[in-house]
Amino acid sequence: SQTLPLPSRTRIFTISNQKGGVGKTTTVVNLSAALAKSGARVLVIDLDPQGNASTALSVEHREGTPSVYDVIVNDRNMDEVIQKSPEFDGLFCVPATIDLAGAEIELVSMVAREQRLARALGEFLDEYDFDYVLIDCPPSLGLLTINAFVAATEVLIPIQCEYYALEGLSQLLKNIKLIEKHLNPKLQVSTILLTMYDSRTNLAHQVAEDVRAHFPKEVLDTIIPRSVRISEAPSYGQSVITYDTNSSGSLSYLEAAAEIARRGVPR
Ligand code: ADP
Ligand code: MG
Repeated sequence: SQTLPLPSRTRIFTISNQKGGVGKTTTVVNLSAALAKSGARVLVIDLDPQGNASTALSVEHREGTPSVYDVIVNDRNMDEVIQKSPEFDGLFCVPATIDLAGAEIELVSMVAREQRLARALGEFLDEYDFDYVLIDCPPSLGLLTINAFVAATEVLIPIQCEYYALEGLSQLLKNIKLIEKHLNPKLQVSTILLTMYDSRTNLAHQVAEDVRAHFPKEVLDTIIPRSVRISEAPSYGQSVITYDTNSSGSLSYLEAAAEIARRGVPR
């Protein structure tokens, strides 16, 4: 397998899109696996109470398991809740359990409620070396997602090559601008990834062209195809990289990882 250039400092991505079902979790899991396969140390933070990323990475996340909830709400250290994914050396996950569902409400009355993940992650990264951190967000702009934006340096937006792809995007970008202005000046939308692309339809082609025209610098050349292998992999507790290494879905995520690594941090 190819080795890729490693970043000189940790790149922290939040994978965000206010729509559900657009491929956020799938992108977090497969991009992380692809980066880890190429030799990087990668941490996935599952910030969605559904825990889909934790499931796909095969880490324990039954109710009561030490998790990101304890980090954000109970001031636990991240190194007390982190788990190693069995799939690759260098691939780790801070799991989400259903306990996290209550966190949106609990956070409201807490001190520094927007900064809790950022602080915990900062302390953790002072002690442990990671090349990439990928944060999987729930599909709403609540305090959990805001915590992810405040902890991150880059936003990766997956865009589904289907109807209404650009709809809602301007609202997302406005919200990110507000976060940048008031809470995290380091945040930038560095990466847009076109996904669930069906090359047989004109619509997919048209959507891809539209998005590229609007965001020429951010959109990766690599497009993730719609692929059954990608959707099957999580039920085996695997990324598609391991589940079917030579499938088009696996190769496209490996290529997207390579592009992200080679482009480095923009600006
Ligand atoms: P989100 O996290 O944005 O809600 P998911 O990553 O869970 O979205 O994806 C939604 C559904 O689409 C899941 O069932 C997933 O397996 C499927 N899916 C995601 N990407 C692809 C793809 N490239 N090809 C086929 N199915 C996909
Ligand atoms: Mg998800």
